Amino acid sequence: MSVPDEGDVVTYEVRGRVAIVTMNRPGYRNAQNSVMTYALDAAFLRAVEDPEVGAIVLAGNGDHFSAGHDIGTPGRDHHVSYENKAVMWWDHVDKPGGDQRYAREMEVYLGMCRRWRELPKPTIAMVQGACIAGGLMLSWVCDLIVASDDAFFADPVVRMGIPGVEYFAHPWVLGTRGAKEILYTGDRFSAQRAYEWGMVSRVVPRADLETTAMEMADKIAAMPQFGLALTKRAVNQCEDLMGIRAGMDSVFGLHHFAHAHNAEVGLGPLGGMDATAMKRGAAAAMKKAGEQ
Ligand code: ZN
Repeated sequence: MSVPDEGDVVTYEVRGRVAIVTMNRPGYRNAQNSVMTYALDAAFLRAVEDPEVGAIVLAGNGDHFSAGHDIGTPGRDHHVSYENKAVMWWDHVDKPGGDQRYAREMEVYLGMCRRWRELPKPTIAMVQGACIAGGLMLSWVCDLIVASDDAFFADPVVRMGIPGVEYFAHPWVLGTRGAKEILYTGDRFSAQRAYEWGMVSRVVPRADLETTAMEMADKIAAMPQFGLALTKRAVNQCEDLMGIRAGMDSVFGLHHFAHAHNAEVGLGPLGGMDATAMKRGAAAAMKKAGEQ
């Protein structure tokens, strides 16, 4: 199966000591297909290998950071083989049922996100507009999140009957009540709300987003590189001791049980939802909320 050539779906730039990695599918609100996943991985690796780079900013070109995993653009490439980079497992293509889903999601979703969380250089997500589901995962793997005041976040996959996205960091980044609220309702939450929950580091006007993110990145990049790498490991190791890693592993099983249940009752792994149905569901929920 061929995938349309969209050119550079990720761009890479170095400004001073900061690498800027930018998702570049603005026409699809930076929906992440596997081409983008592996391009992101290559860009992160490039930044890690460059001794002149001290910090990394992850951005999204256009009006939105990322609308999530690609579940409906012409470039959707879930049936295409790519060389596994995140996990030691067989290729997912041509495998039946859960074997395929488990292999693929462990590699391109959970595995890649964990790999990027462990980048030995500090990362800052610079978020505007939509940051939904898989977009939320990408922002969460970054050490800091700078958001514009028009940014909005959501994990609506409970609408698919699935208990949250694959990188299940919700209780650790939102607290358990915040996690339950955003999952149970599927509602969007604002940058300000995310800031109050401790998920977002700064909320600034859209016009100041890049300056703020770059100022933070410049300041961090001036610190000793090895010291930063050890500090990042220190905090991440403590977060692992707080259960994030083990929790995520156990929830990944529930996530795949939900995919399998959906498929078993004949709705397909996404519970019969596609991008349009998800959008319709969100709009209906908002309308209902407005009527109350
Ligand atoms: Zn999944």
